[in-house]
Amino acid sequence: MPEEQKLSQSLCKSKLYVKKFGGTSVGSIERIEALAERIAKAYQAGERQVIVCSAMAGETNRLIALGGQVTAYGDPREMDMLISTGEQISIALMAMALQKRGIPARSLTGDQVQIHTNSQFGRAAIEQVDTDYLEQLLEQGIIPVVAGFQGRNPNGDVTTLGRGGSDTTAVALAAALSADECQIFTDVTGVFTTDPNLEPAAKRLDSISFSSMFEMARLGAKVLHPDSVAYAERYRVPLRVLSSFENGEGTLICFDGQYHQAGKVVGIAVSADLAMVSFDELDESSDRLAVLFKRLAEMGIETDLLSKTRSSASTVSFTIAQSWLERVLAELDSVSQTLNIGPVYFEQDLVRVSLVGNNNLAKTEVAAKVFDVLGKHGIHVKLVSSSAIKLALVIPQNHLRSAVCALHHAFELNEL
Ligand code: ADP
Ligand code: ASP
Ligand code: MG
Repeated sequence: MPEEQKLSQSLCKSKLYVKKFGGTSVGSIERIEALAERIAKAYQAGERQVIVCSAMAGETNRLIALGGQVTAYGDPREMDMLISTGEQISIALMAMALQKRGIPARSLTGDQVQIHTNSQFGRAAIEQVDTDYLEQLLEQGIIPVVAGFQGRNPNGDVTTLGRGGSDTTAVALAAALSADECQIFTDVTGVFTTDPNLEPAAKRLDSISFSSMFEMARLGAKVLHPDSVAYAERYRVPLRVLSSFENGEGTLICFDGQYHQAGKVVGIAVSADLAMVSFDELDESSDRLAVLFKRLAEMGIETDLLSKTRSSASTVSFTIAQSWLERVLAELDSVSQTLNIGPVYFEQDLVRVSLVGNNNLAKTEVAAKVFDVLGKHGIHVKLVSSSAIKLALVIPQNHLRSAVCALHHAFELNEL
């Protein structure tokens, strides 16, 4: 029996892992070589693996900036064609590094795998993954090395899944292949109580529930893309975050109710570079606001922490990514007459700091503690929003570190 066939038979019943390596993890040839070594060892130990790579660190930003040199608002289809290329570089390099070690590997684009998405360029959602080709390769003992972040729409156009979207590629492949685990390898050792690069006292969590993880991700903890968490929960994919630099168990994302006490703060998520836009409504009418927000949605602008307060006039405030400010102000200017909007104000350099927990975070005691802690540090809160599982606060960016440090301590996250 040929050697490859024997090997493929012995691999048949072995565990299947989808392993995703992020930008820093594949950020240089040395890093790719080190990972190839690790993947080769696992292969020799009999593991079946599907590898998903992000673009090398900084590459997607470089491509976006290149597009920006041609036009400020590039056609979304062309932008996706452009920014999807970063992943093609890293998959080819990774496949070559594996082959050099005698490990059969083949790089594949999203189109070659047949990762089908909808047509929302720049933020496409995966609708279906064909597994035929991947299964064929696995049966032959060949490691598929798949480009993260990209898919194809029904017309065959390249689509991308939103910044950080390679996590979602990995989860979708794991779901389609019924993998034993989807492993997200990154530059930290797991999911922490807050960003360990911001707060050195942050603690790694052995486990976190899907609902807390989703909320953390949605509110800015970029260690996992929110779509990947939602997808893994929906298709019951075992999901783990680990370091690509050192060994360890990382953090397992668990199905709710298994591991955490309700009513406790689990972590703090941060989203930086926000702006707050406010205007007075001269004529209060929900219809007019509907027109405005529909228009912003059509422009692909996500708004958050919307508030409507009344003093002498009714004031509407909302936050947006700072990079959208110019476009939103221009839009408000153009509709101010028809919608009867008064003067528009804005503030820049804001951040959103969100406490995330399993339940009961809307309780008054939690808000009281937060305002007490921030007040003692002279930190002024601009906007607040709460739900059962989060309490989000908008504060000036220059208070970010002190706010996170004080809240992390006050909610005893240092002591986990
Ligand atoms: P990759 O390139 O591997 O996809 P990302 O930069 O997208 O990595 O995500 C990892 C980063 O997420 C970490 O370097 C860390 O700064 C940040 N991060 C934010 N919040 C958290 C958190 N709660 N736990 C761990 N990392 C976090
Ligand atoms: N390369 C893409 C990005 O930088 C996707 C990813 O890294 O997951 O956003
Ligand atoms: Mg990422």
